[in-house]
Order: sequence, then structure tokens, then C-alpha cells
Amino acid sequence: MSTSTILHARPHGPSGHRAGIGALVLVLTVAAACQVGEAEGPPTNSSAVGPETGELQAFTGARIFDGTGSPWIEDGVLLVEDGIVRATGPAQEVDVPPEAQVIDLEGRWLIPGLVNAHGHSGGDREAVLQQLETYGHYGVTTVVSLGGDTDDGVQVRDEQWSPGLDRARLFVAGPVINPGSPEEAREDVAALAAMDVDWVKFRVDDFLGQAEKMAPEVYETIIHEARERNLPVAVHIYQLEDAKGVVEAGADVVAHSVRDGPVDQELIDLLVDREVCYTPTLMREVSTFVYAERPEFFDDPFFLERADPEVIADLEDPETQAEYRESSGAQFWREALPVAEENMVRLHDAGVPVAMGTDTGPYGRFQGYFEHLELERMVNAGMTPVDVLLSTTGQAAACMGLGGIVGTLEPGAWADFLVLDGDPTQDILNTRELHGVWIAGNQVR
Ligand SMILES: [Zn+2]
Repeated sequence: MSTSTILHARPHGPSGHRAGIGALVLVLTVAAACQVGEAEGPPTNSSAVGPETGELQAFTGARIFDGTGSPWIEDGVLLVEDGIVRATGPAQEVDVPPEAQVIDLEGRWLIPGLVNAHGHSGGDREAVLQQLETYGHYGVTTVVSLGGDTDDGVQVRDEQWSPGLDRARLFVAGPVINPGSPEEAREDVAALAAMDVDWVKFRVDDFLGQAEKMAPEVYETIIHEARERNLPVAVHIYQLEDAKGVVEAGADVVAHSVRDGPVDQELIDLLVDREVCYTPTLMREVSTFVYAERPEFFDDPFFLERADPEVIADLEDPETQAEYRESSGAQFWREALPVAEENMVRLHDAGVPVAMGTDTGPYGRFQGYFEHLELERMVNAGMTPVDVLLSTTGQAAACMGLGGIVGTLEPGAWADFLVLDGDPTQDILNTRELHGVWIAGNQVR
């Protein structure tokens, strides 16, 4: 498909919700501008170069991929004021005011920060902040956490609207709900709304016969109640028929791959007609079996920058490896992975908006690093590097109701971006060649 049509908005989608986020950004930006010098969240990285209010930064000389589907801008200028993009364009078209701090990036490639449409963060405030620091270190500058979030996560999200932010941005779904009846569904959605979540998340899956699958009358009620409150809905599915059911009921995002067989034209038509996004989470499958032996990436210095040595030691313990080898689930998901990859490519080719997601956060799914493995896997499965980059920048943002806020370098968006030492549209592995990561104009790596 042409990249010019790739950034779908959802006409039926949670427009009120998206407007809400936009308004929140504006209000909080103004509020932050009035409080310069006051403590704002955790201490910033002391080596970071961040903007003061009113400060202009001009990033010059790089090739710029703005995340909208437009071609690379040669000799680009990214002009940032108070952590927000003011202009992006070729040097001959963007005036750099004399007072701007100029950061020369000649010979490098500049792209929007990566958006993970399906990750997880959890635990208390300190844990959430540490996870967001890790995501940000790896260039994943926005994470939509689809479940497991507490009030601490909500609070961290509310504190992220200021220049000089030193961690990835977070959006939250609160706890994954699992009501047993329409009545409970109404109560659960009301509780999520009271918690002020960004997303509603539930699962329609019998977990290989280990659980009872949620009944359609229950999930139809969840979706109805969520839409009444302008809350978008992401649904964990595994089977084709359940994907159709939840999309027909009005879900906004299919939060995993269809893995019980090939997708069919009926699902394609449903997703395209309703502009529902699809999140493959291929690394979720990989994580179920890859530790049966010592994975190659355990020797990757980029992985080792933030991976917990205790977790690595556990995962390379022969006893742990034996458990993975003997697990029936591991074998099952290993065989489901190529099905997921073929379905992703088929849906993408048919015009379904695909948003990069990894399901990172649970044990053995390494936040920040696995996103780069996901991008590599998406390209190896058959998507072009350009389309994969869009799926984790402008497309992911549009899918998650964050268009114009993150994911692109359009004027008005937050200046969350990566500077790379290689062209990621020539080789997707170049997303790992991180010269630097900036969030809201603040260098965090
Ligand atoms: Zn998940």
C-alpha cells in the first residue's frame, strides 16, 4: 500500500478521548510554563541537556523522517521550543532564529521516538519510573501500557507534560478487567473511568483450555459502556472468530495476532471498514520459547545496557531452560509465530493499520530492547523498513489516539526523537545505532 494512506484516523473512534488528551497537553504545558524551577517529578538526568522555558533549540544537518509517511527531508532542521516541535523542514525553508541553541547533527538520521502500542508497566511509583527510564534509554519514548497499571501509573502519566521530561511517556489501561456478567462489566468500566485510564483492556481467550472464555454479551457490554465514556478499547484475542466478534462489537484495537490459522477476507473487511488497528506482538510469542536455550541476544552489548543480571542468570540456568523445553505452551506458541507473521503481512498488505506492539513488561520480555527485536522481526516477516518505521511512529500514535501529540515531528507535537548513526529505512537494525534520544527536547541518552 502507499504510505500516503497509511495514517488512518478512526472516524468511529474515541474522538472525544483524543480531544481530551490534546486539551490536557495544552493545559498542562501552560501550567508547566508557569512553574519553571519548581520540582517536576523525579530529578532529571544530570548529564541531560534540556530546554528552559522559552528556549529554542535547532537540530540541524540531519536527514529527517517525520513519521507522517513523507519522504526523508535532506539537510533538515527541527526547531523545538519548550520541548515542542515548532517547525520541521529543509534548511532553506526553516528559519533558525539567532537566539536558538544549534545542535549540529550532520551526517545522521533523525526519526520520531518509537511508540509501543502494547507494552506494560506496573508496580509502585519507583518501579514505573525505572521502567519508563529503561524504555526511554532504548528510544521507546511512548508506551501504551495495556494492563497492570495502578494509581501510581496514572499519576506518573499526569506528570509527564513538561519540557525536559526524562523518561518515556506512559498511557495506561489500569487493571485488565474480567467481568463475569454484563452487570459486573458495567461496574468494572465505571471503576476504570473513575481511575482516569486512557484505555480499557480485556481478554477473550480460553488460554488453551485453562479458563472460561468471556461471553459475547459481557464484552459487548464492556465496549458499549466504554464508548459511552469515550474510552477506547483494546482486546486480547488469540482466535480468528473472537477477533471478528470484538471488532463487530466496536473494539478499537486488536491487541495481539490472530494465531489459530490464517486471517480471512471477512476479518480484513471488518478491520478495514472500521479502521481498527492491529498489534502483532510477535516478541510475545518469541518470549514463550526462546529461553529453552541461551538466546544469542544475551551477548548483545545493547541488550546488556539495561537487562537485569539476575533475570539473565535465571533464564540461562539449565533448570529454567529445561522447563521451557518441556513446556507444552512453548511448543504451541513456537508454531503459532509463523502464523502470526503471515497474518500481519496479509493484513498490512490489505490496508489494515498495523501498530508496533511487543507485550513487553512481563518476566523475560525486556522493555526497550524487545521493541528493536520486534521491528527486525516485522521486516524479516515481509513488511518494508519504511512501513515498519511508520508502524512504530505516526501509525502507532494514530492508532492509540495520540496523533499530533507524539509519533510524528509535526508542529505542535512533543519533540520526542531519536538521532541515529545509520539509515533505518535501509537497514532496520539501525534503530539500535542510537547517537542520542531526546524526549520533550531533553537528551536522555
Ligand atoms: Zn499485554
